[in-house]
Amino acid sequence: MDQGVYAIINGMRESENFSWTSNQLAAACPHCGRAFLLPRDQFPLLCPHCFLAQLEEMGGDDVPELRPPELIIPPALTSQQVAQTVQNFARGIWFAPKDLRPQQLQQRLRLLYLPVWLVDSDVQAQWQAEMGFNYQVVSHQERFANGKWRTQEVKETRIRWEPRLGQLQRRYDNVAAPALEEQADLEKQLGRYDLQKSQTYQPGAAANALIRLPNRPPQDAWPEAEPTFLQQARQECRLAAQADHIRDFHWSSRYANQHWTHLLQPVYVTHYFDDSQQPHPLLINGQTGQAYGRRRASRQRAMTSVIMIGLVAVLCWGLGFAAALLSLYGEGALLTLGGILIFTGLCIAACALIPLFVVWYFNWQEKRKAEG
Ligand SMILES: [Zn+2]
Repeated sequence: MDQGVYAIINGMRESENFSWTSNQLAAACPHCGRAFLLPRDQFPLLCPHCFLAQLEEMGGDDVPELRPPELIIPPALTSQQVAQTVQNFARGIWFAPKDLRPQQLQQRLRLLYLPVWLVDSDVQAQWQAEMGFNYQVVSHQERFANGKWRTQEVKETRIRWEPRLGQLQRRYDNVAAPALEEQADLEKQLGRYDLQKSQTYQPGAAANALIRLPNRPPQDAWPEAEPTFLQQARQECRLAAQADHIRDFHWSSRYANQHWTHLLQPVYVTHYFDDSQQPHPLLINGQTGQAYGRRRASRQRAMTSVIMIGLVAVLCWGLGFAAALLSLYGEGALLTLGGILIFTGLCIAACALIPLFVVWYFNWQEKRKAEG
């Protein structure tokens, strides 16, 4: 954990405890290195990121100093909606792994908050752009219909472009920047959160949930916040010029008095283990309900079905050959029965590989979905 990150956020290291309530402790995963705040009564806990190791309590200098968040997005889903999403995830999988059951997923479900940096900054800039102003052109079109000429008025909107330049001196608040290395992947998987629906964080608001600690320092996240400052300035310059459009906006900007805080956004996390005990997470956006998880069908369970079907085929063949042998002792009808049984056995044996194909096809499709 980069101590410098937190020193920068706070301006200086303060003596206040890192915990946001006395009920929380900081713990990190020895496998993936992710760090969390979690309620004491939930410790020890399997890492809610990689699910491959138990979290270990952090102590001494390892403990990051991070002030409580400025804003929080409260979960907007009811428990029924979350349960339904879990049900939908586990539904419709032929030969699902034993661990992939709705009850199991529901039992492991946790509310986790993910951090996003918020930065306030003064901006001084000189800018230039082309402003577009709408104007209407009226023309007339002549048309010949029903034996006579008619005149029709046609209105057309055109844009008049004018060069403008100026100076800008503003303070912008709460511009978002990624606080996690995997922020881009998470956005792809869970969609964006509506930050407008955030609320001021009240002490203890996330006391019963898990909270991910940032692993991306503000100085590293800053380049991703800068374009948002530019967009906001661009929009304001257009409004100030009372223009309808703006293009070719350029500025030379200076930033001062930056202040970093963070926001928490909710995600529900659960997981299952496949045949080879590899964990697979299911993530649910706590605001929109968008879910992400890779479903797997079990080759092990498919193989069990293959063996069962194979045994039925062998039984048919056994009975068929026995009937054919008995027919040698004069019972002609048994030869026909034996032939039917051997043919049936062949048909059943041909079907035996279907479960393996079904599993292969399902896993291939899910892999494509996850990559796509
Ligand atoms: Zn981990």
